[in-house]
Amino acid sequence: MEEIIFKNVESAFMKVRCKKCKNEQIVFSRPSSDVKCLVCSELLVKATGGKGEVLGEIIETYS
Ligand SMILES: [Zn+2]
Repeated sequence: MEEIIFKNVESAFMKVRCKKCKNEQIVFSRPSSDVKCLVCSELLVKATGGKGEVLGEIIETYS
């Protein structure tokens, strides 16, 4: 069971860490398609049509 808290829902970009390989990458918070880890292809953000569902670990958000 995971709980993901968005500190700033207005943030357009965020830094997310891949739970599998620990790679960190900047992702858009409302992606139009699924965002995968550039290193291991693990799904980081799932496209929902609105705010993406973040499956990785959010390190930082940018407004
Ligand atoms: Zn990865």
